[in-house]
Amino acid sequence: MKAVLSDRHRAHDPKVETYLGVPVPANEVPERAEMIRAALVEDGGFELTEPTDHGLDPILAVHDAGLVRFMEEAWPEVQRQRIDREFLVADTYPVRNLFDGMSEELIAARPEPVAIGGRVAWWGLDSSNPLVEGSYDAARSAVDVALTAVDLVLGGESVAYGLCRPPGHHAARAMAGGYCFFNNAAIAAQSIVDRTGEQVAILDVDVHHGNGTQQIFWRRGDVAYASLHADPRRLYPFFLGHADEVGEGPGRRANLNLPQPLRADDATYLRDLDRALEWIGSRPGSVVVVSLGFDTYELDPIGDLALTTDGYAEMGRRVGALGRRLVVLQEGGYHLPTLGANAVSWLRGADGRAGVSGP
Ligand SMILES: [Zn+2]
Repeated sequence: MKAVLSDRHRAHDPKVETYLGVPVPANEVPERAEMIRAALVEDGGFELTEPTDHGLDPILAVHDAGLVRFMEEAWPEVQRQRIDREFLVADTYPVRNLFDGMSEELIAARPEPVAIGGRVAWWGLDSSNPLVEGSYDAARSAVDVALTAVDLVLGGESVAYGLCRPPGHHAARAMAGGYCFFNNAAIAAQSIVDRTGEQVAILDVDVHHGNGTQQIFWRRGDVAYASLHADPRRLYPFFLGHADEVGEGPGRRANLNLPQPLRADDATYLRDLDRALEWIGSRPGSVVVVSLGFDTYELDPIGDLALTTDGYAEMGRRVGALGRRLVVLQEGGYHLPTLGANAVSWLRGADGRAGVSGP
């Protein structure tokens, strides 16, 4: 199996994030990708390849130009405004209740702030998403990784893996958040639609709901989104990911949310995975984009499900058995000691090879 990865992810190197207002060690760190890279090399069944530059156009096909401009300008602005910080997060967010009673037209006409502390909130969801000097370059490289995996699959590979970092599925059209800046999976799906004219399905198996991917394709019938995730009443992103969110307009019934109970195990999870795969299999299209997270793992420090390394092999096997071509893109997963084994297990399963046994 071909696996795409870039050293440029290392430029996004936050040391801390905030949790309930208190600095804690960052979860989304370069070691994550390095652990997976090492496991792919050790396995020997993966051909590692560098991404190629795809420019800004595929990003602008999905994201608001203002978000892209903000990402490019944010760190230079931190320096120009002499903000003495190692990372940038916001304090004050434009939450919906701030605008109660105001017309949609007037809300839409509120101007973007000029202070960087206001701009990072304008384009962001949460304060647990530290932006550092190298974040923009790393986010650009993650998009190139995803698009290079698309190139491989459209070029004839049955499956390709993109080791994207930072991840992407929380990033919406005009919003970063949840360790995500650009939505790698959404950009990949849009690129497949543009290049093939086919419909595409995205299967999201990260422990968190991919609110960004859902938002981007909410009113679209040509890109279907199916997600298994911890019930958002318990876990980030808290406000979206409920089962009654099915899409609207042309996107009605092209969105499938399957919230999982606390500590859901392999058997429980795989039952709902089969529902999602059946739903995807009933829709047209020959390519599925997978948002692959390992924060569903039983020991993950920020997840609350209980999947195992053997469970990942079976999950990969069932996704592979769908018979569609697969663009598999890395999202979350924060238990460093098992990330490599879990990734190899899932990918070997999807490739029709036996999994590796758990630690
Ligand atoms: Zn996640």
